[in-house]
Amino acid sequence: MLLRTKGIPINIDDYIVGRITTDPTNIDSHSILLCEDEIPEFEYFKGLAIITKQQEPRLDNKEKVVFKIPALNHLTNGDLISIGLDGNISTLYRVNSYHNTLLATERCNSNCLMCSQPPKDKNDIPLLYSIYQKLIPLIPKDCIEIGISGGEPTLMGQLFFELLSQLKTELPNTEIHVLTNGRSFAWINMAEKLNRLGYNRLMLGIPVYADYYQVHDYIVQTENAFYQTILGLHNLASLSQRLEVRVVLHKQTIPRLTRLAKYIYKNLPFVEHVAFMGLEYIGYTPHNIQKLWIDPYDYQNELGEAVEFLAGQGMHVSIYNTPLCVLPERLWKFARKSISDWKNDYLPECSLCTKLNECGGLFTWNLKKHSEYIRPFIT
Ligand code: SF4
Repeated sequence: MLLRTKGIPINIDDYIVGRITTDPTNIDSHSILLCEDEIPEFEYFKGLAIITKQQEPRLDNKEKVVFKIPALNHLTNGDLISIGLDGNISTLYRVNSYHNTLLATERCNSNCLMCSQPPKDKNDIPLLYSIYQKLIPLIPKDCIEIGISGGEPTLMGQLFFELLSQLKTELPNTEIHVLTNGRSFAWINMAEKLNRLGYNRLMLGIPVYADYYQVHDYIVQTENAFYQTILGLHNLASLSQRLEVRVVLHKQTIPRLTRLAKYIYKNLPFVEHVAFMGLEYIGYTPHNIQKLWIDPYDYQNELGEAVEFLAGQGMHVSIYNTPLCVLPERLWKFARKSISDWKNDYLPECSLCTKLNECGGLFTWNLKKHSEYIRPFIT
């Protein structure tokens, strides 16, 4: 699904964040008018900007316009977008989706072998934060959930807490799910600062890849990461922060998966949820595929043992990003349709499958690299 597009900007002198409307009679100070046809004449245009596919639109020299945009049909009334000075148009919030995420920064203090969004060392934090300051008040108050991802969101420093504080004020009924490596919370003052927000809608999803420090540190390519993450989890738990542990399934994690499950039960029993996640074929993964690839069909036993052990101890466990046909039937009750709609796809043979509606399918980019055992259920 298209989330970015670009056109030729006129009079855009600052980042614009606003709400899409296709109705020229219903414009307010946050509106961005999407014009399929001729731009109407306005005595006074109250909105922020006009975007259009037109090649040579009628231009009033006061209006902010982006024209010659190749595609706009991915946008709908109520979507929230940003327009950059260069005419880049990014979809920030899709009103008809449950899968909206704020990218906090592309910077990271780890460098995982299978990172889906490899870190970039550029200071994108002030710009992204200023965009989100404008965005958050426009998000519908009945929004169910928003994710915050990175990079590593805590590298925003004080702005991380400011962002959460704004979300809490503007969207008190929205669940916030932050993906963090948790290492920053090894410093108790970070955990205490989070705790002072008193934000019970906030859940932190933190990866733990092994029960043994050398394996975890190798996977995240960072010395002391295991120690910092575990200490961070304990600091957060001591302050009653809601926590989730995430485990990515690949050649480096599978051999110790059962031991990891036992480690989690023994040492991290306070986590609300444990998610076992299939590998994404994007980012660093294609480059490290020899070190990472194991067909999901071939780790059914290890996965089953880990999941059933934790579930048997009363822990809440899920399997993400894994088609039903590569799981034994007894594990289906743990499988979730976890892949965000804009990156979710199915193989041609899935159209024949009787479990299509229950199956979470694949990441779009995993159509190129997937289990060899994907077979449609016929009955
Ligand atoms: S064949 Fe396709 S729809 Fe059916 S279980 Fe497998 S991946 Fe899912």
